[in-house]
Formats: sequence, structure tokens, C-alpha cells
Amino acid sequence: MPQNKAWTLASFPAGAVTESNFKLIESPAPSPKEGEVLVKSLWLSLDPYMRGRLSQQKSYVKGVELGEVMTGETAGEVVESRHPRFKPGDTVTAPAGWQLYGCVKGEMLTRVDASRAPLSYYLGCLGMPGRTAYFGLKEIGAPKPGETVVVSAASGAVGMVVGQLAKAWGCRVVGIAGGKEKCDYVRSLGFDACVDYKSGDLYVSLKEACPKGVDVYFENVGGPILDTLLRLMNLRSRIIVCGLISDYNSTESYGVKMFRSILVNRIKVQGMIVFDWQERYPEANQALLELVAAGKLKYRESILEGLERAPRGLIGLLKGENFGKQLVKLA
Ligand code: NDP
Repeated sequence: MPQNKAWTLASFPAGAVTESNFKLIESPAPSPKEGEVLVKSLWLSLDPYMRGRLSQQKSYVKGVELGEVMTGETAGEVVESRHPRFKPGDTVTAPAGWQLYGCVKGEMLTRVDASRAPLSYYLGCLGMPGRTAYFGLKEIGAPKPGETVVVSAASGAVGMVVGQLAKAWGCRVVGIAGGKEKCDYVRSLGFDACVDYKSGDLYVSLKEACPKGVDVYFENVGGPILDTLLRLMNLRSRIIVCGLISDYNSTESYGVKMFRSILVNRIKVQGMIVFDWQERYPEANQALLELVAAGKLKYRESILEGLERAPRGLIGLLKGENFGKQLVKLA
């Protein structure tokens, strides 16, 4: 059996995550039980939701327990299978966690075709973040051609896809991102404008970028950015509450000040969790793969080398240090 390395939870963070919240352990790779598959992970996805798993607070999914391997989605190869649908060499995505080798129930694996797109894309634009963008925008935002769509964390895993989909669906698209380099990149993806929330007056810059107001706001960050958007939303506009990353490390939640705008403008505000559309994943997978294959969906990755760097990567992601989908290359 090959040697495994795994990051386990050593303590729950109080406020910001630190490297000491995790402990690296080594042991022989596990053997699959009946119905399970042993996966060698080649890529680990780091995602903002992981901060929520490091908490004992009630959420939509149970958190990680002390001593357990840290939760995470990986892409890799089947090494050994005791499940009839998989054989050694198959490429899959799996909830295998922050480790090099993991045993996963066959039902939890997704077979992916690494000849049609880079394997890592199945953790990004062709995976959970891509599906989040697709269903959130299509089903909750429901943008019509000519409408103005704004998305925050626009250079990130979800944001990049939201903007390019909205553009493909005939909208005016405005991104919000931190810093000139990220904004330049977002514009290079075909967004009509991108506003740097770290410089100047966000309200003034957004008002200029959205001369007809905002019809759809895809919310990834929360905090003062949400309040600014609430001042710009149109009558009968929609807000997709996908994520509130500016709050994830806080011990006290941000209090929204412009709530009144929801009443006055009859704004539809709806929270979303991607797995509410689990039964329709094939539809999103197909649509996103076609766009990638046609060169109409561009995607940037932020890659760290080696499992050892996973905690550092998550800490950086929660501070905006990533530029594109955050991944860890494991082999
Ligand atoms: P990203 O790749 O966008 O990375 C996170 C980005 O958030 C950073 O790069 C940074 O961009 C921005 N950010 C971090 N801290 C702050 C802050 N304090 N204020 C404003 N922006 C900040 O991550 P994802 O695309 O994977 O996720 C985006 C959002 O979508 C998250 O909130 C996540 O939780 C949510 N999500 C929700 C899902 C669902 O089912 N509801 C599924 C997947 C993701 P910048 O430098 O531009 O500030």
C-alpha cells in the first residue's frame, strides 16, 4: 500500500483560520470496503465553504469533527475498486478530503472525461463552482437580454463563470473585484466593466458602470458591498445570495443597512445552495463543457504545489490572495 498524508482538524478557529488549526498525519493508504473505491487524488479544490465546516454552528451541512480528515473535493484516478461501476485508471471527482489517497463510496464519485478538458476544470468551471454560477444565474437571477447583471468576487471561481454566462445570454455585465490586476483580467473575459472595490468610491464607480441601474446582482461577498448594491437595484430586480465571504472569518455578522430598498423596489432576494439542483447537474455540465470546448468560457486557476500548502491556501482564499479558482496540485 502507498503511504498516505492527510490534514486533520486539530482545533476550531476563533475568527480567522490559522495553520495551527490543522495537523498533518501520515499512514498507509486505506483499503476500500465493499462498494468503495480507493482514489489517488491529483488535485484538491479549496473553497470558501470550507470555513463553514470549521465551525460547530448549525449550517446546511454538518461540520468537520476534531481529528477528522478535512473535507474537500478532489480530482484524481481510481487505484482500486470494489464498486461495479469503476475500475482502476478511471478519472473521477470525489469528496476524498485533504489527503493523497481516500476511500469513497462509489455513489459519491463522478466520472469525468479528462480528454475533453483539463482534469482540474472539473473542480472549477466544469464542477461545483460552475454549476453554482449556472443555476444561480439562470434560475434565480433569470436575466433577460439587455438587462444589467453585476457580480462580486468577479475574478473568482464562481464569478468568472457568472459574468461570461450573463454575457453569452445577452446582458450588460459588470464585475466587482479587488485590485487593478483582477479588474483588468475580468474585463479581458468580455465583461463590459469591472469596478475595483478597494479604490475610490464604489457607489460612484458602479453608478457610472450601470447607467440603467442593476437588474440582477449575484452576491458572493456580502458586507458593505451588498449595501452599495441595494442603493442601485432597479424595480423588480433580483439578488442571488450565493455567498457572504466577507463575513466568514468574523465573529460578528455584518448588519445590512439598506434593507428598505428590498421593499421599495420589490426586489426578489433568494439564497441558494448548489446541491438544491443536484438532479439537473447533467444539464449544467453539458452546457458548461460546450462553452469551454468552443473557447467561449475562459477560466483562470490559482495553483499551489503540494498537499502541505493546503491550510495556507485556504487562509489566503479567505483574504482574496487567490487570483482565479484556488487549487492544490497533489501529484
Ligand atoms: P473565489 O474564487 O471567488 O475566491 C474568493 C474571493 O472572494 C477572493 O478572491 C476575493 O476576491 C473575495 N473576497 C475575499 N474576502 C473578501 C472580502 N472581505 N470582501 C470582499 N471580497 C472578498 O471563491 P468562489 O468563487 O469559490 O466562491 C465565491 C462565493 O460563492 C463565496 O462566498 C462562496 O462561499 C460562494 N459559493 C456558494 C455556493 C453555494 O452553493 N451557495 C457554492 C460555491 C461558492 P477579491 O480579491 O476580488 O476581493
